[in-house]
Amino acid sequence: MAEDLAIERAKKLFGAEHVNVQPYSGSPANQAVFFALLNLGDTFMGFDLSAGGHLTHGSPVNFSGKQYNCVAYNVEKGSELLDYDKIKKQAMTVKPKLILSGLTAYPRKLDFKAFQEICDEAGAYHMSDIAHIAGLCATGVHESPVPLADVVTTTTHKTLRGPRGGMIMCKIEDKFDRNGKKNLAQKIDSAVFPGLQGGPHDHVNAAKAVAFGEALKPGYRDYCKQIVKNAKALAETLMDKGLELVTGGTDNHLMVIKLVNKGLTGKGKEVQNALDGAGITVNKNTIPYEPATPFNPSGIRLGTPAITTRGMKESEMKVIGECIAKVIDNYTDKRVIERVKSDILELCKDFQLYPGMEVLR
Ligand SMILES: *Cc1c(COP(=O)(O)O)cnc(C)c1O
Repeated sequence: MAEDLAIERAKKLFGAEHVNVQPYSGSPANQAVFFALLNLGDTFMGFDLSAGGHLTHGSPVNFSGKQYNCVAYNVEKGSELLDYDKIKKQAMTVKPKLILSGLTAYPRKLDFKAFQEICDEAGAYHMSDIAHIAGLCATGVHESPVPLADVVTTTTHKTLRGPRGGMIMCKIEDKFDRNGKKNLAQKIDSAVFPGLQGGPHDHVNAAKAVAFGEALKPGYRDYCKQIVKNAKALAETLMDKGLELVTGGTDNHLMVIKLVNKGLTGKGKEVQNALDGAGITVNKNTIPYEPATPFNPSGIRLGTPAITTRGMKESEMKVIGECIAKVIDNYTDKRVIERVKSDILELCKDFQLYPGMEVLR
């Protein structure tokens, strides 16, 4: 069965004790874990959305913030980095039932060992959401939480480069309920089905099996290493061009440009659209302690996985970084945007999405 093959490969790829590949996507995977381990109204700690967490990590507009009591941890104001001693102190006061480690827009490595220690001391479940960095974790390019955390969730469509979907990995034993009727793996499985979902999406499970198979090949590790090298090269170019990055750089696959020093506070959406017009896809994003609003935020987030898949390396990052800086400095100038667009199309000619196909003009 496709599902069994996907499970078997995921276990091998991540060294997980137990795997459930049925979650329809990353958000339902997280919902299933909360459903399995928390009661409505229980307290948990998650990463503040504006500084790098995900909506499902306790945002007030999301089920995770509405149905549970989320106390967010945040980055430090000056460094924009997580301070694990401070998070530990906060956890000892809050006494959450679960602590969620994971990122959507934090450009630095997460210290999963530190999170584990905090959970051990505070008596909390450790849930880790590696949606963005799963590929890096699977290949040792980033530390993996799988040997440590009670539960690890992920999407299968970000650095894992598979179909849109979700997955949950967990320990078999529930450390807080050793003699319970169900072990942790059984709790997770029954929270997914029948707790939350109906029938499995086997067409997606088949694609997950293919993606995990690809990730088990040696070339995938080179791909993940190149993603990080490319991100560093792109970050260097952007900073050379006078742009400010959240935390002053990147250790992973992503970076967030702060538009504040360019006088573009709250203009993330306009800059995103200008870059779109030049053939460069980015996301508007909040920056830590966002001075504007989530709908008109002051940052843009970009990552290197997709362009690395096309075969681009450090020298292309320099070209792209210069193009991005040019558009940001002239985001209302249609002529500049058109010129950059033709440069980008020229670059893409040598890096076909599907080798052999012409770039669509
Ligand atoms: C993308 C993401 C999700 C949600 O995934 P969907 O498949 O869009 O529901 C959850 N957690 C993190 C950390 C993410 O980056």
